[in-house]
Amino acid sequence: MLRGQGNDGVPDSRAIKLLQDDSQSSNQSPISNLFGGQYKSTLRCVSGGNQSAKFEAFSHLSVPMPARASQCSLHECIQLFVEGGTISGWTCPECQSSDGATKRLDIWRLPPVLIIHIQRFFNDGAWKKNQSSVLCPLKNLDMSPHLATKDAHQQHHRYHLYGVVNHFGSMDSGHYTAFCRAPNTDRWHKYDDHQVHELGGGSVRSSAGYLMFYSAIDQRL
Ligand SMILES: [Zn+2]
Repeated sequence: MLRGQGNDGVPDSRAIKLLQDDSQSSNQSPISNLFGGQYKSTLRCVSGGNQSAKFEAFSHLSVPMPARASQCSLHECIQLFVEGGTISGWTCPECQSSDGATKRLDIWRLPPVLIIHIQRFFNDGAWKKNQSSVLCPLKNLDMSPHLATKDAHQQHHRYHLYGVVNHFGSMDSGHYTAFCRAPNTDRWHKYDDHQVHELGGGSVRSSAGYLMFYSAIDQRL
């Protein structure tokens, strides 16, 4: 249970301040300072409606893809992440109903370097890979529509893409390559084992994009 949490399961501003202080002291490291963010996970009982919330740290956002779409935007994937979905079979500690719960993940604080993992692999009875294209902004990814808070603690919300890890192949076999943007020239390069080629910016987005690396504009990485 969250300290300072109200009866409705929603934390008050004092609890939020404590959490933010905690995140900047006890778990501080160069890694968490660069990659660490925070979201609020809220479970809501389908039957009784009561809800509970807790804050969780993340080092990357693992976002789902829309089903049955040949292409989608990164914003759609992030929105699906926030909406969370349902948890079947969950038993409510308040009303003992096992009708399940809805889960929502509100993004509370974003890090200087935001890593987004596209959930291309899924199981619908058998493991499969979704090969749809994800249209991700190369410049000016604005995360503010997805943020639950607009307060002064929210330092980072606008990002440039500087790296992509691609996965080619299937569940059984595959190959990884990387695209990286040189900070001094702003040009993209493809890294494929021992081969390195310059790449047009238009080729950065593909159906193979698996991990996206964004740096906050004010971070200047
Ligand atoms: Zn309940």
